[in-house]
Amino acid sequence: MSSTRTIRSVHTVADLRAQVGRWRAGGESVALVPTMGALHAGHVALMEAARGEADHVVVSIFVNPTQFAPTEDLSRYPRTLEADLDKADAAGTELAFVPDAGEIYGEGFCTTISLAGPALGLETDFRPTHFAGVATVVAKLLIQTLPDVALFGQKDYQQLQVVTRLARDLDLPVRIVGVPTVREADGLALSSRNVYLGREERAAAPTLYRALSEAAAAIAAGEPIANAVDAARHEVIAAGFALDYLEARHAATLAPIASPAEGPVRLLLAARIGTTRLIDNLAIPD
Ligand code: AMP
Repeated sequence: MSSTRTIRSVHTVADLRAQVGRWRAGGESVALVPTMGALHAGHVALMEAARGEADHVVVSIFVNPTQFAPTEDLSRYPRTLEADLDKADAAGTELAFVPDAGEIYGEGFCTTISLAGPALGLETDFRPTHFAGVATVVAKLLIQTLPDVALFGQKDYQQLQVVTRLARDLDLPVRIVGVPTVREADGLALSSRNVYLGREERAAAPTLYRALSEAAAAIAAGEPIANAVDAARHEVIAAGFALDYLEARHAATLAPIASPAEGPVRLLLAARIGTTRLIDNLAIPD
């Protein structure tokens, strides 16, 4: 533990609410950055953006079991709490909410948020219960913290749209802010799961961003979406990935879209290499 750290950790909803309540009583605003820990520069960008949005920043660190399927990587998901607290502290975050599973899912817990709209298709075709788990825990974290603003990465673009819709539909009194994806120099989107990549897999990984960038540029230059997407799919597969999906969707509703004339376009992909599954996405430039 860093001796100069000033961030405070709380483990219960009661302690979280007490601290946020003190700030609120002083007329000060609060931002929440929900995470599953294993913090990297992408999370740091969220916490830095949060400082610009509110007087105080809270990070939650909780590896949410309900968003992992039984076959997924819950047990091996990286857990690096001390380093996380150092990074959050250095980013100006004052409070870390670090609950255990029992604090979030008490005895008899049985309520789950049911989703449609932007939750349909894409990730849901491959991880059918994922967004129900995400939406339920995010709703709980928002109700527990009652922040003025909550920040989410565009890296998980479908999640950002699901959470934006959730807050609107349930009248949660919080502003949802999306933060641009932080990437390695070669284009690979930072992810806690990148540590799983072997040397050759890591060397192939920048293909994802390259394929998306080329398709985005081609569509912006007038190439039909279907052709550009097809070329990108081939490029990703040729680099050794098993492709779950690479699709063009309406940037807000995530409905399928055939032409930029129908609205803003977002390209989204998920692909597997070895035992690692990576996701990425990109806007089509105007
Ligand atoms: P996670 O800990 O993976 O659940 O991510 C917590 C938050 O950080 C989510 O809102 C993610 O979208 C965001 N995030 C993860 N990776 C990045 C990245 N490379 N750039 C920006 N935000 C990110």
